[in-house]
Amino acid sequence: MNRFAAHLKTVNTHRAEVRRNCFKCGLYRQGLMHDLSKYSPQEFLVSVRFFQGFRSPYTAEKEIYGYSLGWLHHKGHNRHHWEYWYDMLDGVWQPIEMPFPYVVEMVCDRVAACKVYEKEKYTSASALNYFEAKNDKQYMHPKTAELLRTILTRIRDEGEDAAFAWLKEELRQWHPQSHLLNNRSPRQE
Ligand SMILES: [Zn+2]
Ligand SMILES: [Zn+2]
Repeated sequence: MNRFAAHLKTVNTHRAEVRRNCFKCGLYRQGLMHDLSKYSPQEFLVSVRFFQGFRSPYTAEKEIYGYSLGWLHHKGHNRHHWEYWYDMLDGVWQPIEMPFPYVVEMVCDRVAACKVYEKEKYTSASALNYFEAKNDKQYMHPKTAELLRTILTRIRDEGEDAAFAWLKEELRQWHPQSHLLNNRSPRQE
């Protein structure tokens, strides 16, 4: 299989897996739209060029150029990535608290990715273990990191289906302005 076909298959398989998870959470539009930008030339061609099969093409691109235009395009166009949620707020460059539906989509994404990486070693604890092992949580908004941990812990303890059903119910009650009811606590140095 050439690299073009191999990458296309990777993207299609990943999207189908995330879509299934999103649908279980009631996120139909996000499930259909997930990672569509991977078909754009800015992401697709770079990924074909650096396709290796065992790791992200963006990692290889970064090694060569020191940055990855493919990844920068991806995180700039996809709200399910916490890296999208950075902005100047009150004069401070800081992480923004992610709206709940995008945190849920990020969970759906991570669960799907863990299954691909771990294959038969995958368990309901895999996504939580990955979260705890990585240091990216320190760059997320503290509330986003906390919520992500809560959801992943629930997946470990109750299994995917029960956790996704719970998220579907929570999302039904969620409102875009819910954050105004909570105390906003931007990170200040
Ligand atoms: Zn993505
Ligand atoms: Zn994805």
